[in-house]
Amino acid sequence: MTFDIDKLRVKPGSKVNLAKIDADGTPQWQDKGGVTNKEDGKQRVVELNDRLEALQELLYAEGKHRVLVVLQAMDAGGKDGTIRHVFDGVNPSGVRAPAFKKPTTRELSRDYLWRVHQQVPGDGELVIFNRSHYEDVLVVRVLDLVDKKRWAKRYQHIVNFEQMLVDEGTTIVKIYLHISKEEQKERLQARLDEPTKNWKFEPGDLDMRERWEDFMEAFEGALEGTSTKDAPWFVVPANRKWYRNVAVLEIMVQTLEELNMKFPAAHPDIASIIIPD
Ligand code: AMP
Ligand code: MG
Repeated sequence: MTFDIDKLRVKPGSKVNLAKIDADGTPQWQDKGGVTNKEDGKQRVVELNDRLEALQELLYAEGKHRVLVVLQAMDAGGKDGTIRHVFDGVNPSGVRAPAFKKPTTRELSRDYLWRVHQQVPGDGELVIFNRSHYEDVLVVRVLDLVDKKRWAKRYQHIVNFEQMLVDEGTTIVKIYLHISKEEQKERLQARLDEPTKNWKFEPGDLDMRERWEDFMEAFEGALEGTSTKDAPWFVVPANRKWYRNVAVLEIMVQTLEELNMKFPAAHPDIASIIIPD
C-alpha cells in the first residue's frame, strides 16, 4: 500500500477551500470500513513510528541535516497529541518541540521572527514547532493585533525566511491539522468533563471558537500564500486521530527517506581494533 503524501500537499499558488476538505476524511488510506480500518490504522502507526525512530537516529548520527516541522491547528486540533503519538520513542537528545505561546513583552518588543529564529534546528536536529510564526498571520490577523498593512506583508517575509533556512540546509514541512467545528466542540467539552483534561481548558478558547470562520479564512490565506516547493504545507484531515497519526507519520517518514542519510563512515581500523581486557 502506498500513501501518496502529494495528495495532501498544497500546490504552490493554488487556492484552498477548507470547507471543501472533509475533516473526517481518510485520503490515501484504504477504506475497508468500520473498526478493522481503525485497528489497521493503529497498527500502521506502530510500524511507521518504528521507522521514524530509526530515521531520527540516522539524522542525529549523521549530523548533517536540519529538520523543521511546523504544526498548526485550531485549539483542540491535536497538536499536542500528534507530538506525543507521532514522535513517541524518538531520542530526546536530538529532538525538541518548542511551543509558541502569547509573546512576552520582550518578544513583542522585537520583530515577530526573532523568537522563532532562535528555535530553528541545528545540524542533526529534528525540531517540531507547536504553533509558530504562523500565529502572526493567524490569531494576529483575526484579532487585529496589528494593522492589516503590517500583517499583509508577513507572508512574503515568511516565504523568504523559510527559503533562507532551506538554502542553508534545513528541510521544512508544515502541517495543518484540519478538524471540524463540531469535533472541536466535542474536544473542548471533554476538557470540561474529564478531570485529567481540565487543565487544558481555557475560557479564551471559546472566544476564538466564535471567530471560527475568520480563522478558516486566515488559515486559507496562510496555506495559499506560503506553500512553496521547498517549504510545503500539508493539510491533514484530523477528526480521526488514528488517521491523523498515520498521515503525519507518512509525511515525516517519506520526507526523511528522501534525505538519503547514511551513518558516518566507521573508523578505518575498526575491523582490527581489539578492546583490551
Ligand atoms: P496553547 O497552544 O493552547 O498553549 O495556547 C497558546 C496561545 O497563544 C494561543 O491562544 C495562541 O493563539 C497564542 N499565541 C501564540 N502565538 C501568538 C502570537 N504571535 N500573538 C498572539 N497570540 C499568540
Ligand atoms: Mg490551548
